[in-house]
Amino acid sequence: AVFTNHDYEPIAKDRDATVRQALAADGRELFTFKDQVIFEASEILTGQDQPFSVFTPYKNAWLKALRPFDLRPYPVDAYRKALAPVPATHRQALPTLESLGFAPSNLKEIAMPTGMDGAQALFREFQTRMGDYGQRRDFPALRGPSYLSVHLRFGTISIRALARTAHDTVQRGGTAAAGAAIWLSELIWRDFYFMILHHHPRLAEGKSYHPEYDAIRWVDLHTGNEYFEAWCQARTGYPLVDAAMLQIRQSGYMHNRLRMVTASFLVKDLGVDWRRGEQYFADQLNDFDFSANNGGWQWAASTGCDAQPYFRIFNPVTQSEKFDPQGRFIRKYLPVLENLPDKYIHAPWTAPDDVLAAAGVRLGENYPRPIVQHGVARMEALERYGAVKGSKAKSAD
Ligand SMILES: Cc1cc2nc3c(=O)[nH]c(=O)nc-3n(C[C@H](O)[C@H](O)[C@H](O)COP(=O)(O)OP(=O)(O)OC[C@H]3O[C@@H](n4cnc5c(N)ncnc54)[C@H](O)[C@@H]3O)c2cc1C
Repeated sequence: AVFTNHDYEPIAKDRDATVRQALAADGRELFTFKDQVIFEASEILTGQDQPFSVFTPYKNAWLKALRPFDLRPYPVDAYRKALAPVPATHRQALPTLESLGFAPSNLKEIAMPTGMDGAQALFREFQTRMGDYGQRRDFPALRGPSYLSVHLRFGTISIRALARTAHDTVQRGGTAAAGAAIWLSELIWRDFYFMILHHHPRLAEGKSYHPEYDAIRWVDLHTGNEYFEAWCQARTGYPLVDAAMLQIRQSGYMHNRLRMVTASFLVKDLGVDWRRGEQYFADQLNDFDFSANNGGWQWAASTGCDAQPYFRIFNPVTQSEKFDPQGRFIRKYLPVLENLPDKYIHAPWTAPDDVLAAAGVRLGENYPRPIVQHGVARMEALERYGAVKGSKAKSAD
């Protein structure tokens, strides 16, 4: 028999069905189990036995359902001796990374400790600052989050171990409890999006969770690639957006606050179809996970379940002033802006000519002018979404 764990993406489910059939044809069986999440599929349902579509009641039901068993490590060691030994011929035949199509990476910043030991080291380090998570997590220049996403994605750390530690910290009370509770919520978001994908497999076909938004007339339908390319290549002229787009390209990671800001900017300021950004992130992120990525994009595009309302549009300058006040993150990725005073680093086009000259910034030459004006773009986005909501309101009448 072959034992493995559940996967939730439609394409992986199809793969498992094919494997199951092939094994059956050979007189063998495929067994799959829950492992990637704490609660899956229909384990957490509403009072009417329906899947949740809003996070907070899902989270409350999740916490209520939690039993010590759900957070315990599986007793796999006791069963290890029952595993068939790997035949010597197979051991020699393990494929190399090169033969699987991997090439050495040119990512500059793999500060990421790898493998299960690396994951443990990272988690131990995070535990010393879990209590500060709530205060620090939104500031990309600070070491705020856990950076464990890539390990969760590749299964080099157990979600039960993480949730258990967070949950125990909350239960113990004390100074770290509040930060641990917020972090635990993030782990629950992860379960939430897996659950959403399970119940709405059409999301994997590029469909909006709320179908009316599939009628939006995206700007790139008539302007082509110009805006999308500028966004990918970190040439929007909005420093926080550009620095974030350099972070993802240079490290395969992007800070959560910046994922929200860059996604919102692409969809709402540039009017580009969110599915193009979703695909770009899928290509770039080491922690790419279909359900969380799709969930994040549909949240930012306001097309998703429990998404941000369409009329809430991030202002890329105020986000920058708020979450990177001294421009430390911006300066790290955009050394061309290094010498601009803090006051102007979030919106270089507002700086007087002499300030720009003193800092060595030549707008339109060594750093772009803003590709759109946020105020104008915002009004256009409201119209674009309003047209769709209007037609829905009409048809509802
Ligand atoms: C547009 C967009 C795209 C995203 N794409 C992905 C993706 O492909 N893969 C991915 O793992 N996360 C994705 N996220 C969610 C979140 O940004 C990352 O999980 C987080 O930045 C990873 O860093 P961390 O491990 O340091 O997070 P921490 O803040 O330490 O969070 C701990 C863990 O909680 C989970 N988590 C946190 N936030 C979310 C969330 N909003 N949704 C689901 N799970 C969450 C992750 O597993 C994360 O590793 C996306 C968010 C947005 C807005």
